[in-house]
Amino acid sequence: MPFKFDVYDRSVYREPAPLDRDDPFRSMMERFDIAAEILELNPGFYEYLCRPTRTHITSIPVVMDTGHIKVFEGYRVIHNNVLGPSKGGIRYAPDVSMNEVKALAAWMTWKCAVVDVPFGGAKGGVVCNPREMSPGELERLTRRYTADLIDVFGPDKDIPAPDMNTNEQIMAWILDTYSMHSRRTENAVVTGKPVGLGGSKGRQEATGRGVMTVTLAAMDRLDLTPDDCTVAVQGFGNVGSIAAQLLQESGCTVVAVSDVTGGYYREDGLDIAAMRTYVQNHDGTLDGYDQAESLTNEELLTLDCDILVPAAKEDQIDAEIARNIDARIIVEGANGPTMPDADDILNEKGVLVIPDILANAGGVTVSYFEWVQDRQGYFWTEESVRDRLEQMMRTAFERVYETAEEHDVSLRIGAYVMGIRKVAEALRIRGIYA
Ligand code: NAD
Repeated sequence: MPFKFDVYDRSVYREPAPLDRDDPFRSMMERFDIAAEILELNPGFYEYLCRPTRTHITSIPVVMDTGHIKVFEGYRVIHNNVLGPSKGGIRYAPDVSMNEVKALAAWMTWKCAVVDVPFGGAKGGVVCNPREMSPGELERLTRRYTADLIDVFGPDKDIPAPDMNTNEQIMAWILDTYSMHSRRTENAVVTGKPVGLGGSKGRQEATGRGVMTVTLAAMDRLDLTPDDCTVAVQGFGNVGSIAAQLLQESGCTVVAVSDVTGGYYREDGLDIAAMRTYVQNHDGTLDGYDQAESLTNEELLTLDCDILVPAAKEDQIDAEIARNIDARIIVEGANGPTMPDADDILNEKGVLVIPDILANAGGVTVSYFEWVQDRQGYFWTEESVRDRLEQMMRTAFERVYETAEEHDVSLRIGAYVMGIRKVAEALRIRGIYA
């Protein structure tokens, strides 16, 4: 296709880059600092572990359907690879920033260490609005981003996965582009790909299933039974809708859910299966669903219920909301939904918060299973995936719980202590290469 241009878009270099609205990296570091002090982490290790090992920024030219060239900014951050190849999703969003990608990459390092999978942490992002792009434009963007990072990615080096606004199809394009360059099919270079290309059974539901497993484990610890528990879930996408469905199947009453269109409440329990079907038939949202009362986002978060599952996005629970939260257990399906100043309030109130780096680690755990199956060339049954996932999530929950008790800290700090200790110990044994 011939290239076209009308005018130079000088704003790309004249306008200063927008400032980050929030600071997820600082939010990660505030927790890191507390754990580092508990561990009396060597100051040199501290400095090394709070910095990403490598950051990549790439300008991705894409020929749009109009024939014009548009240049997108892409990131890949390898936070750490001391425990193994780095692992982490790729996010396509108009507001994705290097700061956010750095924080998410670090969270992946601690998350992999907490659930004991032999990976380091990474994350990628491309500043774009996929809703305004055609499938062809998205394919060209994905393939060029992959080609730009061809020396970074690899089954033994760095393994991407889906994240916000990226999916199985995008993983398939990454697999294909990488394979074309390496002259052989390398299906272990990405996870979260279609089952027909070496994806794992059970990957799609893995994060929601992990959320359910740790929620039931927490209930056991607090002597609660699912039949007596009410649940509210913020976010009705992959994580939230599956967690809601599985918790309901476990006996809980899911009284409220929300998505970007608002909250939906029913005192005697919502019909989650019907709501999931509704979403599939209505452009991915609950807009117009009329079998429930409506709620605001804040009302959902502060609802009188036993279990609250924030499964939408970052920074949803601030100090003010935390003060009004009524739930006994919060299970962080999303990454970073609770702001650092809300943590202390929730602790003082005795709310048990199962932190993101534990609660939503089911996704990376089954990604690990997928990578193992690809490398073995031998694929497991869905039942086997579920059993192993449940076992790993239960074990991780109990270990985090015990670490938190040992140091008399929250589960969040317990999880950071566990993750950082594991990576620091590997670093100590490996030594610093000179
Ligand atoms: P998704 O895009 O499938 O769903 C997000 C949901 O949140 C949608 O229903 C959307 O309408 C809703 N939402 C957005 N803004 C909202 C708001 N302000 N109030 C209420 N609802 C809102 O995304 P997902 O894959 O389910 O991921 C959700 C979160 O879980 C993200 O933080 C993601 O990083 C994290 N996570 C996902 C996975 C995974 O395997 N999908 C794994 C680990 C962590």
